[in-house]
Amino acid sequence: MTRFSGKSVIVTGSSNGIGRATAVLFSRYGAQVTITGRDSERLEVTKEKMLKAGALPQNINLVVANLTDPNGQDHIIQSTLKAFGKIDVLVNNAGANIFDGTLNTDQSIEIYQKTFQINFQSVVEMIKKTKEYLIKTKGEIVNVSSTVAGPQAMPMAPYYASAKAALNQYTRCVAIDLIQYGVRVNSVSPGIVESGFMSAQGFPDELQQKFLTFFASRKECIPAGVCGKPEDIAELIVFLSDRKRSSYIIGQSIVADGGSTLVAGMHAHDLHDMLGL
Ligand code: NDP
Repeated sequence: MTRFSGKSVIVTGSSNGIGRATAVLFSRYGAQVTITGRDSERLEVTKEKMLKAGALPQNINLVVANLTDPNGQDHIIQSTLKAFGKIDVLVNNAGANIFDGTLNTDQSIEIYQKTFQINFQSVVEMIKKTKEYLIKTKGEIVNVSSTVAGPQAMPMAPYYASAKAALNQYTRCVAIDLIQYGVRVNSVSPGIVESGFMSAQGFPDELQQKFLTFFASRKECIPAGVCGKPEDIAELIVFLSDRKRSSYIIGQSIVADGGSTLVAGMHAHDLHDMLGL
């Protein structure tokens, strides 16, 4: 028996990045996993990695679906029930910063709507639609938020940051509602993670590397001196999905950010240099 054998898990946004690493880790622990996203080729890559991690082919349910489409959501849920008969864990990981070249308050209402639709509304809809099944199994929900939710401001991407802030509060509200039925809800808040997140916004590889190196090399940005890997976040998601290991954590958003949210930049300047001592 492995840690998640016999458990049925849905990981949204598992065609890339954090979701892919999470699906692979669940497979390593013997889970039955629904992987889903819009890109079928990238989902096949995830499937290959899951098989290499030891998954049995019948324990992988691959669903191509757009999560902002109610039919897509129904397809993910119904095909999971058909393949595995139940739902024990829902990981609401799919998300994106929708980028059209504009920043700050110049971003349009269309960007606002699309950003909230994938990062917040789709989570609300998935929880509403899976609730009855999760109550049956006394299951777990893990939402993937972000440190951009605050309390620090994120003026460059106000809608993305606000959608994640809404998600944190929704996590708390739903956690208290659903724990009365035995369903646990938590979220994870990653800092900067090397994934497909920037490609999805249209940034070429070279610019992504520049971005990641810039932040990793500045200790007032990431004290750990390194950007996160999807696997770092996957470990946390799996921990929060595991009733035996995290049963007393309810409605929290656990930060994994290399220390970014703890610093205000002042520590990066050496007192000796500053004062000429
Ligand atoms: P990736 O771009 O690598 O992965 C995002 C996943 O979401 C993809 O599998 C993508 O699938 C899926 N997705 C996006 N839009 C839709 C949609 N409309 N319908 C279905 N699936 C969709 O990024 P990450 O792995 O980094 O992102 C995962 C989560 O982590 C997101 O919620 C993100 O906000 C959050 N996060 C990321 C951080 C980072 O620095 N990378 C930091 C903090 C939080 P497809 O393209 O196939 O549809």
